[in-house]
Amino acid sequence: MPRPLSLYDTWERRLRPFIPLAPGGPVGLYTCGPTVYDYQHIGNFRTFLFEDVLKRVLRWNGHRVNHVMNITDVGHLTSDADEGEDKMEKGSRRTGKTAWEVAAYFTDAFLADMKRLNVEDPTVLCKATDHIAEQIAFIADIERNGYAYTTSDGVYFDTSKLDDYGYLARLDVEGLEAGRRVELGEKRRATDFALWKFSPRGEARQMEWDSPWGRGFPGWHIECSAMAQKYLGDYFDIHCGGEDHIPVHHTNEIAQTEGRLADHPEIAHDHRRLANFWMHGYFLLANDAKMAKSAGEFLRISSLSDRGYDPIAYRFLCLTAHYRSQLNFTWEALDAAATGLERMRQGFHALPDAGAAPDAAYVDRFTDEINDDLNLPRALALAWEVLRGDLAPAVKRATLARFDEVFGLGLAAWTPKAVDVPPGIRVIADARYAARTAKQWAEADRLRAQLQAAGWEMEDRADGYSLKRGQEKHA
Ligand code: AMP
Ligand code: ZN
Repeated sequence: MPRPLSLYDTWERRLRPFIPLAPGGPVGLYTCGPTVYDYQHIGNFRTFLFEDVLKRVLRWNGHRVNHVMNITDVGHLTSDADEGEDKMEKGSRRTGKTAWEVAAYFTDAFLADMKRLNVEDPTVLCKATDHIAEQIAFIADIERNGYAYTTSDGVYFDTSKLDDYGYLARLDVEGLEAGRRVELGEKRRATDFALWKFSPRGEARQMEWDSPWGRGFPGWHIECSAMAQKYLGDYFDIHCGGEDHIPVHHTNEIAQTEGRLADHPEIAHDHRRLANFWMHGYFLLANDAKMAKSAGEFLRISSLSDRGYDPIAYRFLCLTAHYRSQLNFTWEALDAAATGLERMRQGFHALPDAGAAPDAAYVDRFTDEINDDLNLPRALALAWEVLRGDLAPAVKRATLARFDEVFGLGLAAWTPKAVDVPPGIRVIADARYAARTAKQWAEADRLRAQLQAAGWEMEDRADGYSLKRGQEKHA
């Protein structure tokens, strides 16, 4: 019998057996989505890829998954401490478009990149701006229970009302209090956070709504609590995000839920932390430092494809590291992943598709690895073992196709033509092919050198040529 699924729960700081709250029912999964004032960087996508793999592993274990993801299109301020400008309004000023146009543009860009990475669509994709009424109702419940207070610039959550505020992050609330007293303003406690912000007086905002407290816009954390509750109920199976969400965003989502449910003594305290499992993907680093949108220069999925990499090579790279360890991005690591992916694709396609069944022993070993808190690096090692081992070729293919339900590399659908060759490279390659056909050897050699300098190897074939990535050294 293969090992049953266990997952690391940040709340309890340990691996726990995963048992769905509703036996047989769909697993409720909420993942914090993108803030759409700019492109998502490849670090953001590491988290979305981890969540995609989690979903696939749940399905591997026979669960249906009801996956809800939000789009943050309002309310995320430039500082997590409720200070600074709204990121959407700032994006609008930067681009000269309306905040609504900015949100629509970057939402589309995000979804297109998710497709290029073979990330499956969520069951429900919900925008914060489509759920203002739900957020207002949620805040009203918190206020009625006495967990909110109003200042001159907004409605704040009173964290002193909760004995275990910050438990998810094991926050040292008193230490934070002592350290940040000067910046408090009208907030009563350093950890208190905005539920609703009033539109600044005399300033026209593009995104603002009427509320019982005054015209303004919701705080960033309330949208996730309100939409999770609407689509998944008061208490659901798994809530995910990147590790940066542990101390602030998720801590506050939990606090809001506790505040809203305070007048429901029939609900056990344990069931007021919104989700049964809290899971977090660790960061992608660049040059051993945090990759952040605010840092200006950042890598997007098209930064990779512009350099000739298939976005799936990035997916492959992410599979080589456990989601609970940080991963340092380098071009060398991406090269290695691209090579690994290419070998796996070629190896797979060299095997006959003869309708064989997967090898049961390998499938069980695979289950052992992925059910051990998604150990994809070891699952990937098992795939190499299958490819290089001595199973019958058709059985190898069937086994790898089954593994790929979790990897999501799209092995079976891949065709050699799908390699992403930038148009500029294609032009040089065509010119070289023409030169070679015309026996202009010097010109052909010159063009080959040009391709090599750009990181491409051209191989001559009787009936044409093929291109593959070479050993370019990136700066
Ligand atoms: P945002 O658009 O900033 O709200 O972030 C979208 C998702 O990406 C969130 O789950 C973040 O926790 C996650 N995230 C942000 N930066 C990184 C990073 N460098 N590596 C991995 N995940 C990240
Ligand atoms: Zn969220």
